Amino acid sequence: MLIGDDTSVVGFTSRIAIRLGVGVKVPFWLSKWLGNIELYRAYPNLFQELGSQDKCVQELGAWNQNQWMWGVVDDVSVLSHLAKEEWCELRQILMDVEPKRTELDCFVWPLNGSGVYTVKDYYNCLIMENSVGVEDSRTKEAWAMVWKSWMPSKVKFFAWRLLKDRLATRAQLAKRGIIADANDCLCVFGCNVLEDRNHLFISCFLAAGVWRKIHQWLGSDCQSKPDCCDDFIQLVGVLKNRASPRRVGVIWVAVCWCIWKHRNEIVFNNGVCDAEEIIHNIKMHSWWWLAIGSKKKVNCNFFEWFQCPLEYL
Ligand SMILES: [Zn+2]
Repeated sequence: MLIGDDTSVVGFTSRIAIRLGVGVKVPFWLSKWLGNIELYRAYPNLFQELGSQDKCVQELGAWNQNQWMWGVVDDVSVLSHLAKEEWCELRQILMDVEPKRTELDCFVWPLNGSGVYTVKDYYNCLIMENSVGVEDSRTKEAWAMVWKSWMPSKVKFFAWRLLKDRLATRAQLAKRGIIADANDCLCVFGCNVLEDRNHLFISCFLAAGVWRKIHQWLGSDCQSKPDCCDDFIQLVGVLKNRASPRRVGVIWVAVCWCIWKHRNEIVFNNGVCDAEEIIHNIKMHSWWWLAIGSKKKVNCNFFEWFQCPLEYL
């Protein structure tokens, strides 16, 4: 399999792919072999706890007859809940990666069968990109805004996977054969509905309640859209005359990030469902990212932000 081509789960901006062969010598944690971010930055807790920091891909898996078997984690039970959560996501991504035993590692051009770059291929690729469907163009529009905003790299990585529908929701895990029983695919908040991206972050009673409060806080009177990408673009559009679109985008991502963290706390750590806690965390994280991390910082303290963010957006 080509690692990093445009159709795989990874490699969201890179056009050059790495084909893993029998050598699989690429540094596992320290190189950008799975997209445009090193794994040690995307999964910091797992990286810290495993003690395999300088190993290459070859050392974190083995051939079983002709099948590549990953051996990144020996004993899941010794990991902290944060590291377990990260492993759950990384494991899903690694399922898409199959080294080729009969080839050496090499860089390839993924847009044709020969692996050799041609201007014609690149031109055709750009033409294709300009004629993608409405849904895909909205994903790109939302992602372009997120990419230019300031937020921690792990949150940016989360946002990219959310917008591309690559998060390890129960629906995605079932699709990949990790969950077999249909009853295990239901929403963790007890809705009796399939836990897919749009349910978890938009239509679930918990998410809907959180969004209502956040819309009030932002002074926007819009109703949530059923699709995550549409909802992102709608919120940014509704507030565009009163607030910076990128900053509104950061708040939108903060809402999803806090719902996701809360959901994982319930799944991995027997946490209790608490909408007020999620809302508090959204206000805190969004202020933190926009007032501390961003270059063009919002100019207010936490209490002013809590009262009326729109004055500072
Ligand atoms: Zn639900």
